[in-house]
Amino acid sequence: MEVSFHREVAMLRRGNGDTFHGEGILAITKALLQSGVAYVGGYQGAPVSHLLDVLVQAEDYLRELGVHVEACSNEASAAAMLGASIHYPLRGAVTWKSIVGTNVAADALSNLASPGVTGGALIVVGEDYGEGASVIQERTYAFALKSSLVLLDPRPDLERMVRIVEEGFALSEASNMPAMLQLRIRACHVRGSFACRDNVAPAISPQHLLDDPAPFDYAKLSHPPMTFRHEKLKSAERLPAARRFIVEHGLNERFVATRDDIGIVVQGGLYNSLVRALQQFGLADAYGAATVSILVLNVVYPLAPDEIRGFCAGKRAVLIVEEGQPEFIEQEILALLARGGITTPVHGKDVLPMAGEYSVEVIARGLDGFLAQRAPELMNDAGPAWLAATDARRAAVASALGTPLPARPPNFCIGCPERPVFAALKLAQQDVGSVHIAADIGCHSFATFEPFGMGHSILGYGMSLASRAGVSPMMRRRTLAIMGDGGFWHNGLITGVQSALFNRDDAVLLILKNGYTSATGTQEIISTPGEALKEAAEEKQESLVHRNQTIEKTLQGIGVRWMRTVDSYEVDAMRRTLDDAFTTDFAGLKVVIAEGECQLERQRRVKPWRAGALKAGKRVVRVKYGVDEDTCSGDHSCIRLSGCPTLSLKESPDPLKVDPVATVLEGCVGCGLCGENAHAASLCPSFYRGEVIQNPGWRDRVSARVRHAFIRLFQPA
Ligand code: SF4
Ligand code: SF4
Repeated sequence: MEVSFHREVAMLRRGNGDTFHGEGILAITKALLQSGVAYVGGYQGAPVSHLLDVLVQAEDYLRELGVHVEACSNEASAAAMLGASIHYPLRGAVTWKSIVGTNVAADALSNLASPGVTGGALIVVGEDYGEGASVIQERTYAFALKSSLVLLDPRPDLERMVRIVEEGFALSEASNMPAMLQLRIRACHVRGSFACRDNVAPAISPQHLLDDPAPFDYAKLSHPPMTFRHEKLKSAERLPAARRFIVEHGLNERFVATRDDIGIVVQGGLYNSLVRALQQFGLADAYGAATVSILVLNVVYPLAPDEIRGFCAGKRAVLIVEEGQPEFIEQEILALLARGGITTPVHGKDVLPMAGEYSVEVIARGLDGFLAQRAPELMNDAGPAWLAATDARRAAVASALGTPLPARPPNFCIGCPERPVFAALKLAQQDVGSVHIAADIGCHSFATFEPFGMGHSILGYGMSLASRAGVSPMMRRRTLAIMGDGGFWHNGLITGVQSALFNRDDAVLLILKNGYTSATGTQEIISTPGEALKEAAEEKQESLVHRNQTIEKTLQGIGVRWMRTVDSYEVDAMRRTLDDAFTTDFAGLKVVIAEGECQLERQRRVKPWRAGALKAGKRVVRVKYGVDEDTCSGDHSCIRLSGCPTLSLKESPDPLKVDPVATVLEGCVGCGLCGENAHAASLCPSFYRGEVIQNPGWRDRVSARVRHAFIRLFQPA
C-alpha cells in the first residue's frame, strides 16, 4: 500500500494530557488501543478502510505495545479471528464494510455469538447506507437481532465515539455478547477532538504469552446439544445483563428540554442531522440545545425497556427517527409501550420515509409532519419556509438547465489497465457475437457504465464465476465471468474456480490482475510484488504485476489447463485471446489473465520517483498521446471505444468541419490505449505518440535539431 499514514500513526502514540484532533475513524482506531485491545483484524472497505490501513502501517508501534494485527483475506476470516475471545480474556476488534462484509462473515458470527465471549469482542462495521453508498441497501441491524449481538451506533462526536468503544468492550464482557459498532460515512469523516488517555498494553499478548491453552470446555463449542443451552442463555442471561449495563453506565443519552411533553428517540448516528433539522425550525441551537426532549440511542440493540418506557411515559407524543427498513426499533418500542400499558402516541415511518438516507432535509420533512399533528404550537414559519426555499432552489436549477443534468457515472482512472481490456471485449463480441457477462465487485464494475455498458449481474465479491453456473448450460455461446485479483483471493478461487473445475464447466474467466485490491484503496494482497521489485520497477518506470506469478501457479496447481496471460494494454492481442477462449474446442474452464498494474498505484510510485530524478538533473521521458486535428474525421469512435477522461473534444479549427474534433488533454499518462485502439479497431490514423524529454542529453538535443531541420525543409514557407 503506497498511501502513507505516518501522521496518523504518530497520533496513535498520544496519551494522558494530549488532545487528539482528526477524523472519526481514526478516533475509533485510537480508542481501540486505549481499551487494551490485544488483536485486530479485518477486511478493508469504505467507509472504514482507514482503520486497518493505519494499523497495518503502525506495525512497529503495535508490536511494541503487544497488539497483533492481521490483514484478513475476507470478512469471514476476520470474524473467525474473534474466536480468540471465546475462552481467553483477550479483547479483540475486527472491521469491515457492511452489509456485504457482514453477509460474508455471517457464519462465523453466528458460531461466535452462540457460545458467547469471555474477552470483549468488537466488530467495527462501515454502515455503507445512503447516497454515498456503493453496496446494496440493507441494515446491519438484522444480524444483531438474529444472532444476539450488541449494536452500538454512537452519536458522531469524537468524545462520545471513543467512550462508546471503551464501554463497548466492557459491555461485551459483562453480557458475553460480541458487540458491533456501526459507523455511517458521516461518522467516519466527522472531524473533532478528544482528550486522549494512555494506550493500554494487553495483559496477554505476543509480548506476554500464555503458558497453556484453556482447559477443554464443551460449553464453549457451538455444537449441539450446547447450542440449545446457548439459545436460552441469550434471552435469560446475556440480553438482561446487557440491558443492565447500558442503563447503569448511561450509554444512551437523554437530553431533557423545556418541552418535555414532546420527545424524539433517535439512533445515535443520526443525532447531528436531527439537530440540524431542528435548527431549521428554530427548535435547537448549533450546539444541540433543543426545545424538545431527545433520547439518543448510542446502543440501538438491545433496547433497555425501562429506559424507553421512562422516556415515553406521560409525553403527548414521541417521534422515532430510524433510518432504513424495516423499522426494527419502532416496532420494538411500540411493543414495549403496549406491554407496559403506556399509551403515548408514537410516530416514525408514518411521517418519515421507509427507505433511503435520512439527510437533514428528509428529517426536516418528517418533523414538519410530526409537529403539525402533535405540537402545532411549536410550528413557526422558519421550518416550512426553509423547506419551501429548498424546493424552489431545486426547481430554479431544473428550469435554468431546461433538461435534467446528464448523469456522471464514475469511471476508470486515467490510464487504468482495465479500460483496454473492455475495449478488447467490445471488439471480441463483434467477432463472436454478444456473450452473457457475469460481472463482479471491483474497479472493473465501472465497465457497467458507458461507453462499455457490460455486465448482466453482480452477485457479490468474487462470485462472478459461480454466478454464471446456472446460465452457461442454457447458452449457445460461452459465458464470461470477470473478476479482479482482489475478488479472486477474497472468494473467487474457492466459490468459482474450484467449483467450475469440479463440475467440469465450460466457461471463460477473465482475471484482471492489477496487483492490489484497488477499489478499496489499493491494499496489498498475496500476489502484490514485494518491496525489492517495487524499487527495481521505480528505476525503470515499469509495471510490476508481471513479476508475481502467485495467481498463475495457484491456478495451475488446482488443475486449470487452459490459461493465457496477456498484457492489458495490448488490445488486439487481448481481442484475439478472448476470441480464442470463446471458440476453442477445449471444453473446460478457460482462464484469461489480463496483466497491467493499477495506474493509480503506479502513478503514486512513479510521480515521486520522477520528481526526484528531475531534481537530481536526470533525464526523464514522459509519454503522451495526441490527436492530429487535421486528420481527425470527427466520428468520435475512439471515444466510444475508450472512455478515457483525458480523451475529449474541442472545436474544429477547420471551418469546413462542423463536428468537434478529438483531443487529448494534459492529464494523459501515456498508457498507450489510444494507439492500441486505433490499431485494433482500424480507426482513423489521427493519433500520435509523443515523448516529452526533460533534462535532455546531448543526443536528444542533436536529434531534435536534425528533426526540426527536416520538418522545416518539407513545410511550405
Ligand atoms: S484504482 Fe487502479 S484499477 Fe481502479 S480504476 Fe483506478 S487505475 Fe483502474
Ligand atoms: S493514451 Fe489515451 S487512453 Fe491512455 S491516458 Fe492518454 S488519452 Fe487516456
